[in-house]
Amino acid sequence: MKKININLDIRKYSIFIDRGILKSIGNYHITKFTNSKAFIITDKNVSKLYLKEIILAFKKSKVKCFSYIVNSGEKSKSYETLEFLSHKILKDNINRNDIIYALGGGIIGDLAGFLSSIILRGVHYIQIPTTLLSQVDSSVGGKTGINTPLGKNLIGTFYQPSTVFIDTNTLKSLPEAEYSAGYAEVIKYAIINDKKFFNWLDLNYKKIKNKNSIIIEEIIYKCCRNKAKIISEDEKEASKRMLLNLGHTFAHSIEAELNFEVKHGNAVAVGILMALHLSITLGYATSNDYELILEHFKKMSLPITLKDLSSKKNWKVQSLIKKMKNDKKILGNQLRFILCKGIGKAFISKNVTNENLTQTIKLFT
Ligand code: NAD
Ligand code: MG
Repeated sequence: MKKININLDIRKYSIFIDRGILKSIGNYHITKFTNSKAFIITDKNVSKLYLKEIILAFKKSKVKCFSYIVNSGEKSKSYETLEFLSHKILKDNINRNDIIYALGGGIIGDLAGFLSSIILRGVHYIQIPTTLLSQVDSSVGGKTGINTPLGKNLIGTFYQPSTVFIDTNTLKSLPEAEYSAGYAEVIKYAIINDKKFFNWLDLNYKKIKNKNSIIIEEIIYKCCRNKAKIISEDEKEASKRMLLNLGHTFAHSIEAELNFEVKHGNAVAVGILMALHLSITLGYATSNDYELILEHFKKMSLPITLKDLSSKKNWKVQSLIKKMKNDKKILGNQLRFILCKGIGKAFISKNVTNENLTQTIKLFT
């Protein structure tokens, strides 16, 4: 088992990574909490695969547990689902001593995390991420939230989990398309600050594609360790944590433009390429680095243009730019972009103009 400790002023917690760790959840619960019930939130797909196993683990440890199943998909990160869940959970008499378990991908993690931060003014929650994206990224760091028609994640909180349990066995049932979308967030870490990691990923791309379990475990460990370091230095995204948004200002506007009917990781993949291209245009990065990354994306079957994300959509550049202005990364009137001075050298820029954006996005339509 691999373990990473996160030390924040507000909370210290651990990430446990292992194959088959799900079975030990009940035991962990009783050693850590006394007189505490478990409230599991999951989605339809995940419930069919793992809910029974978790309920059994709680039963074996004599922990009283309740479970709630919401629809799979981004539409569940909504006021409606939040209301539905809070009413149900309150009716089941949750109290401040109880624990909410987020069993699923980033959607469940964000939704259950947000609910945990506001229900009874805050109860502890534990992340059990089951997608590659959530295991390398969203389950760690405490960003929670739901979407509004104006944009992604615009209502939410910073609220750290009490523990993160990563069972890499759950990836075996993950559809290929989800695995590949999650991989976009993996490359993100490499491009931000770890060229060695990028080279290692590139070297091992076949094993990654074949879901080699040793390599995947190593990837998850490296990404979580990297994220843990960044959020320990800057929990609330005042500076360094912004780097983790590489490609995300583009991605969030793409997602809103497609009415959230696109995988986040796929939008991030195209967003990363846009950010890199913008970096070349502004004279920060060389086309060599861009080509290396583009080739890697192709080998990993990631989308590389807006058309790859939706061939039917009539992409409107100005509409995408308008949506970017609703993003949270806006400071005063100025959008902040994460750009790169090469692989492993991301930085925050405030000097991106509308013309730069128009020119970049056009290249990807
Ligand atoms: P997701 O939660 O929708 O999961 C993807 C799909 O896979 C769903 O249909 C789900 O039911 C299914 N699934 C999950 N685990 C499975 C498994 N083990 N086997 C088979 N099917 C499984 O999507 P995601 O990509 O995990 O997360 C995307 C969300 O995460 C977005 O809303 C994004 O905004 C958010 N996010 C949040 C953060 C953060 O820091 N909080 C970071 C990155 C992304
Ligand atoms: Mg993301």
